[in-house]
Amino acid sequence: MTEKAPSENTVLVGGMILTEPGRTGVVKHEKTLIAEDRLVEVNVSRLTEEVDARIVDCSHCLIMPGLINGHVHAAMSLLRGLADDLPFHRWLNEYIFPAESTHVGPEFVYLGTMISSMEMALNGITTFADGYFHMEHAARAAVDVGLRAVIAQGILDVPAPDAASPGSWKGRMHEFLESCPRDPLISPALFCHSTYLCSPETLRDAAALARELRTLLFCHVSETAPEVDDVAHRYGRRPVEHLDALNILGEGFVAVHAVHLSDREKEMLVEAGVGVVHCPESNMKLAAGACDASGLSRRGVAMGIGTDGPASNNNLDLFEEMRSASLMAKLVTRDPEALDARTVLRMATIDGARVLGMDDRIGSLEPGKFADVIVIDPDRPHLTPMYVPESHLVYAARGSDVRDVIVNGRMVVDHGRITTVDEEEFKARARTMASEIGRGVGLRECGE
Ligand SMILES: [Zn+2]
Repeated sequence: MTEKAPSENTVLVGGMILTEPGRTGVVKHEKTLIAEDRLVEVNVSRLTEEVDARIVDCSHCLIMPGLINGHVHAAMSLLRGLADDLPFHRWLNEYIFPAESTHVGPEFVYLGTMISSMEMALNGITTFADGYFHMEHAARAAVDVGLRAVIAQGILDVPAPDAASPGSWKGRMHEFLESCPRDPLISPALFCHSTYLCSPETLRDAAALARELRTLLFCHVSETAPEVDDVAHRYGRRPVEHLDALNILGEGFVAVHAVHLSDREKEMLVEAGVGVVHCPESNMKLAAGACDASGLSRRGVAMGIGTDGPASNNNLDLFEEMRSASLMAKLVTRDPEALDARTVLRMATIDGARVLGMDDRIGSLEPGKFADVIVIDPDRPHLTPMYVPESHLVYAARGSDVRDVIVNGRMVVDHGRITTVDEEEFKARARTMASEIGRGVGLRECGE
């Protein structure tokens, strides 16, 4: 364990640095000073004053802002690989919802989020936006690993693992807000599952509560074509039109997926200043369709990037997700210039921070911002030689190329090892719980 005391300073020395993808290029790095939770001096030849500090040698490495996973259901790592290669509605209704109703409780959420948080940390993700149930326990896991997280409590108008009767979500939300850890790493939020599983009244009430609390409201929007047909049939409007008619679109609302949009709906998102989180691998795996990410980005929509849950991806590697986002955009537009490497890097850093309303605090390396920093070691065959580092980060790098991860000034991953929690202990606990989950669907946990 090399846990960093909050008062300790860190100086990164040497290597290369990318302070804000798309705005600055990769340049030679000299010294960067982190004091407590903040970046104090970034890439200076001499520190203003010499300080007692832990020195991190970054020679031959690339320093950049930590990655931001704009959408995940972290606890679902315990359902990863349980049901694959299925149509979306069969996957959800025949496997995921039944498994959740049987197994999802506080321990499931803590343990599943712990597994995902360790995976995300090792892959260079320093902030994630999570949406699920029993979310105070997800927040505990994020705090224990040391990641920054937007923790959104799930809201549904069908029975949920933590709200048995539809309509009881308000009581659950109250409990969540009361018991969610008060920690600088955690921002509580709300997550309405979708316009097909939340009534207009629930959507309106949740939006009003989010405004009152000045917090974010996430919602899966227009993920599949059948969803659009269902909502249009029920309400006479497509999902984004429906949300607009309910007066929900606006700052603080985050649309996840946004795959099946009419031109009018795209304009509505632009006009309302709504941020979108693009989850290309989940959309491909569930054959949901392709979000027009390059078109939305060109129109000026703030675009983040997300892995979605580990049961529909199935890994939490944002390097892979960036590559997929770019390749998907090129394929569907037949334009090799669509969603270029710098644009996608922005989606995973500063633009992702903008979607979460946190771009004044994270997403780039600037004095005064929180010290959320990753160090990538490019001394590997698949990154050698390196002409254009941004190109390598999107098209060739992997999460496992991340060497060090600093969140809020604390070293969470040091030379590829988690420093904050005992990885082996939590993997063993996850295997034990998985034996029980697997039995329910005739599968055996075979990781031992
Ligand atoms: Zn999702």
